[in-house]
Parts: sequence; C-alpha cells; structure tokens
Amino acid sequence: MLRSAVTITTLCIAIVGTGIFAAGGYLKSKTWAETASVDQPLFAEISTTSTQGLPTAASSTAKLSLPILVYHIVRPSYPSDDAAVRRIAVTPQTFDEEMSYLGNAGYHIVSFNDLEDHFRNGTPLPPHPVILSFDDGWSDQFTYAFPILTAHRYTATFFVFTNAVGGQGFLSWDELKSLVAAGMTIGSHSESHPFLTHVVSTDALWNEIDGSKQILERRLGISVNEFAYPFGAYDPAVITMVQRAGYRSARGDFFSGDQEGDRLYALSAMNAPTTTASFEQRFPIR
Ligand SMILES: [Zn+2]
Repeated sequence: MLRSAVTITTLCIAIVGTGIFAAGGYLKSKTWAETASVDQPLFAEISTTSTQGLPTAASSTAKLSLPILVYHIVRPSYPSDDAAVRRIAVTPQTFDEEMSYLGNAGYHIVSFNDLEDHFRNGTPLPPHPVILSFDDGWSDQFTYAFPILTAHRYTATFFVFTNAVGGQGFLSWDELKSLVAAGMTIGSHSESHPFLTHVVSTDALWNEIDGSKQILERRLGISVNEFAYPFGAYDPAVITMVQRAGYRSARGDFFSGDQEGDRLYALSAMNAPTTTASFEQRFPIR
C-alpha cells in the first residue's frame, strides 16, 4: 500500500503543473511547469484557459511577500524512491533543519487566517511571514512532521481530501483531531481529489467543494475556512463555488512567494525545497 500511496503522491505532484495551465488566465510564471517532470498525456487532457478576472474580496489589494510552503512527503528516504518522489520528499532531519532555520533567519510562521485578516481587515502581520501547509493527508505527515512542528511551536495547515481520511497510509480522523487539538488548521482539498475544472456536474462540483467542508466540520467539530485546489487547478466557476461555500481563501498555483489581496481565492504557493541548502537560498537571512 505504501508503494501505491507514493505513486498517488507522485501523480498529484507531477500534474500540478498541468493544473496551472488550466488556470492560465492567472498565470504569472512558468517556472514549475517548465521544470516539473510532468506526465505529457495529462497535458492534453487539460481544459483551455480562461482570462476572466478574479473576484475581489479584499479591502487591500497590495502585493505582499508571504511564501506559502507546500509539503507532501516528510519521511526517511528509501532506496526505492524514484526521482519524482525525491523531488518532493523531505526527510525529517531536513524538515527539522528548515524549521530551525526559518526562526533563526528572521521569518515568522503565520496562518491562512492571519493572511485573510490582513487583506480583509488590514490586520498587521509580523515581519517576513511564511505559511506552512501539507497536502493530501499522508499519515507520514503526522508521524514525522507534526512532532517537529510542535517542538518548534509552529502551526501549519493540513489540506486533506475527505475520501482518503482513514484509509491506509492516510491520516485517520483521530489523528486529525489530535492535529486540531495541537492548534493546527485543517483545510479542505476536496472529497476525491479530482481536477475540479473537469467536473461537469454542478452537483458533483458542489459536493467536492462544499460537501468536503461539511464532512470535515461535522467530524472534527471545527470551522473549515481554507480550500486547496487539487492539482492547483481552478477556473472562475470553481472559484465562485468556493466562495459560495463560505471559504475565506483558497490556495492555487505553485509559483511565486507573493500574495495579493484580490487573489485570495488563487493564493500562490511553492513546493518546499527538499534540501536545507536550497531552502536557505530561497529564504535569505533577514
Ligand atoms: Zn493534492
């Protein structure tokens, strides 16, 4: 099962770049898509781009440097890990070093809620803010990353897709409750992790976006305010539905470290560097 879990992860990551093309109207950079090892046939399946503008939900539209780091695999490396896995896998030791470095280098970990309050209400942020997020709900994140986060007194957001919760290799509901109890945020990553831009049925799309929110809120007794588009793929119809479901922001494409107040439903994110050296290069000492 572990092998299949890893395969799924690889698939998720490999076609993140393709999702960007689905949202080409908002494209700012081609860095990830150009460098990722993508599955070419999947490119061909992507729907065409839209140039429709994003809805504005903010009082401030200023650009803000606020990198949103995305982690998928945090666990010891295995000899069987292929190149695609190694590209996104971070060992616990490296993760610990990255977390130590952030604090020592002058960065401050904030939450999506902090970002939302900043853009919506003008609430100040600490200098050099960074958001930590984890995707897809792999149980390794609980086993290896969670203790390191708590040791550093950092909070992070875990985006899970509800159909996977409790499955082998994935976080259980009890583990999610433990994350919540420790101050972590749980966000929705849909029900079944589809390309939302390919879901034809409005009811099915609503289930993915709102249904997952309802399930998480009911099972965990929390309010779920953040959404992460599977594969980073979205279009104006998807964004409208995410807003209608009551989310306060949504994490989208995978390129820059900047955020803008009129892109609260297309927040920019970046896959976390997998070596301490590359991490330190990306986050210079402040
Ligand atoms: Zn995902």
